[in-house]
Amino acid sequence: MKVVPVVSGGLDSVTMLYLLHEQDYGIEHIVSFNYGQRHKKELDFAKYHADSLGAEHIIIDLYRTSLTHILAQSGSSLVDDTVDVPEGHYAEENMKATVVPNRNMMMLAIAGSVAVATGAEYIATAVHSGDHAIYPDCRPEFVDLLERALWSGNEGFGSLAPNPIKTPFLYRTKADIAEMAMQLHVPIDKTWSCYVGGAKHCGRCGTCVERLEAIDGARSRFAPQHRIIDETEYEDTTYWREALKKELA
Ligand SMILES: [Zn+2]
Repeated sequence: MKVVPVVSGGLDSVTMLYLLHEQDYGIEHIVSFNYGQRHKKELDFAKYHADSLGAEHIIIDLYRTSLTHILAQSGSSLVDDTVDVPEGHYAEENMKATVVPNRNMMMLAIAGSVAVATGAEYIATAVHSGDHAIYPDCRPEFVDLLERALWSGNEGFGSLAPNPIKTPFLYRTKADIAEMAMQLHVPIDKTWSCYVGGAKHCGRCGTCVERLEAIDGARSRFAPQHRIIDETEYEDTTYWREALKKELA
């Protein structure tokens, strides 16, 4: 069985890639997107992991089209340099500034094309339960409808399975994913989450806070006895705890 994973180069999608590899799926193509995000380092990490699996890394470069300028009109901080990347915990209302319009539909539609063209049965996305509140295109209802659309729109062509979207983390938390990363020996420092786009992870933006919280939670569950595991460098290593306290207050 072959799968075409969408891999951003972040912790979730890289862990998914390791999981699919562990589960013996054939992975010949990995799809990433440049939609004008500030944090292009993650694309380098996606390529690193594609190379290490011997898969072809396909970067869909939306940035070179005029689409990015249009997407910036949404007020998404990910594609518009003039909008500040919000700090703090992901659940906060201001994280809506990180929504890129219709992002998952675009990504999964293109991965679906690659799958049909190359005889793969599946595509895969690392959406997880923590994404559901803010991002409607990460919710189970959306995945379900898109599966049916992909199947229906390609009937008789290629080899797509009737349920062609693998979502191994759809009902998992970010901490579950971090724990799996540890179990699968994913080099966590070779994943990129920060939305700000500096030389190191900032430690303060929504994804950094979420990442640090998840890794901390997974570390205590997975291997409290081991000195591990995340060798990522962060500008600020303590802010995330404050942000969580504020969220709970
Ligand atoms: Zn950050």
